[in-house]
Amino acid sequence: MDDPRGDGRGAALKRLRRSHQDTVLAALARPGGLSRAELAEHTGLSRSTLYTIVGDLLADGAVLEVPGSAVPGSRGRRATRITANPRGAVRIGLDIGRSRVHVAFVDTAGRRLATGTRQLPPLPHWNRRTDAAIGLIRKVAADHDLSAAAPRGIGIGLPGPVHLDERGRILGEDTRIRQLRRVQDRIGEAFGAPTAVGNNTRYAALGEALWGGARGAENVLYIRVSDAVGGGIVCQGRLLTGRRGAAGELGHLVADPAGPPCYCGGSGCLETYTAIPALLEQCRENGLTVADAADLVRAVRAEDPAACRAVTGAADLLGAHLARLAAVFDPDQVIVGGPLAGLDRDFLARIRSLVRVHCLASVGEPPEVRAAELDDDAGALGAVAALERGSEPLSVANLQAR
Ligand SMILES: [Zn+2]
Repeated sequence: MDDPRGDGRGAALKRLRRSHQDTVLAALARPGGLSRAELAEHTGLSRSTLYTIVGDLLADGAVLEVPGSAVPGSRGRRATRITANPRGAVRIGLDIGRSRVHVAFVDTAGRRLATGTRQLPPLPHWNRRTDAAIGLIRKVAADHDLSAAAPRGIGIGLPGPVHLDERGRILGEDTRIRQLRRVQDRIGEAFGAPTAVGNNTRYAALGEALWGGARGAENVLYIRVSDAVGGGIVCQGRLLTGRRGAAGELGHLVADPAGPPCYCGGSGCLETYTAIPALLEQCRENGLTVADAADLVRAVRAEDPAACRAVTGAADLLGAHLARLAAVFDPDQVIVGGPLAGLDRDFLARIRSLVRVHCLASVGEPPEVRAAELDDDAGALGAVAALERGSEPLSVANLQAR
C-alpha cells in the first residue's frame, strides 16, 4: 500500500538511513575530512553500516573520496579520506510569502552557498506559489552549479500560524491547512527530499539567532515590521512555538482594546497601527502621498513631518510593547527587521531607548536592540536550521555546536 504519510516500515528505514547519513555528514563538517575508520569512531556506527552509508553518499555526490596521507608502516599506502562535497550535500530553505518566494542553499558546514528571490503578484494561489518555489530552486541550483537532484532536506517557511504534530506534519483540516500540506508534499516529491515546515517569521527569528544580528545569543526577541507585523521568540536556545504554533505572533498584541477591528478577529492589534500599510494611510491622512515602504523611508530621511510622525509613533508603540516582552522573556537581544529598521534616529533608536527605560532595570544591563542583518534571507535560513534536528526541538546551542 502507498504510504503517503511516511508512517510505514519502509519509510522508517528510509528515515533511519537519512539520520545515519546526517550523522556522517555532521562528522565531516570540518576541513580535511576523515578516513572510514575515523568516521566509524566519530559516529559510533558499525563498520558495515558506515560503509553502506558512505557508499550511498558517494553515489549521491554528497561526499567525495580524496587521497589522504600515507598510512604509517604500510609501505606508502594512502588511506582514502572522505570529505563533504560542499556543492553536493546541500540543504535548502524556502520562505514562501504572500507575494514572494525566497530560497537559500546551505552546505553541511552551515555556509550560505547561494540565494535567490522570485516576486509574485499579491496572494497568488498556492499551486502557483509552489510552482514558483520549485522553479526557483531549480534555477538557483543551475545558476550556481549546485546539485538540486538530491538535497539533504528542504525547510519550508509559510505565512500564518503553522501547528505541527510530533512528526512534523501540519495539524488541522481547513482549506488553508490542506493547501499547505499539499505545498509540503509537492516540494518534497519534486526533489525526493525530506521536508520541514513552519511559520516563516518564526524561522526568521531562528535565522537571525544563528546567522544574523543575534549570532550566538540564546535568548532573542525578534520582530518584523513590514506589510504585516510578526515575530518569533528564541528562549534558552529554543524557538518557542506554543500550543498551536502561534507563539511569537507579536503583531496581534492588543495595543488598544477599543481600537479598530483586525482581520484576526480582535481589535486594536499592534499591527493595525504599525504595519507599513497603516503608516502609509496615516501619511495620507496628513496630506502626504507615499506609495510604499521605500517611499516612506525616503520621506523620513528627507524629514517630512507627516512621515516622521507616522514612523516615530509606530516606534513608540512598538518600543513600549517590546519593553514589556523583554521584561517577560529577558532576552540578550531584541532584533528588529523590516524596511524601517535602517532608520536609526526616528525608529530603531526610539525603540532602543524605550526598551532601555522600561524593561526590568534591577536585573542588570538591558537587552541590546539591533537591526536584523539577514533581511530577505532570514526566513529561508531559519527553515534550513529547522531541518537540522528533525523532530527534536530546535536549539541554537545544539545547532552552533555542529
Ligand atoms: Zn489582530
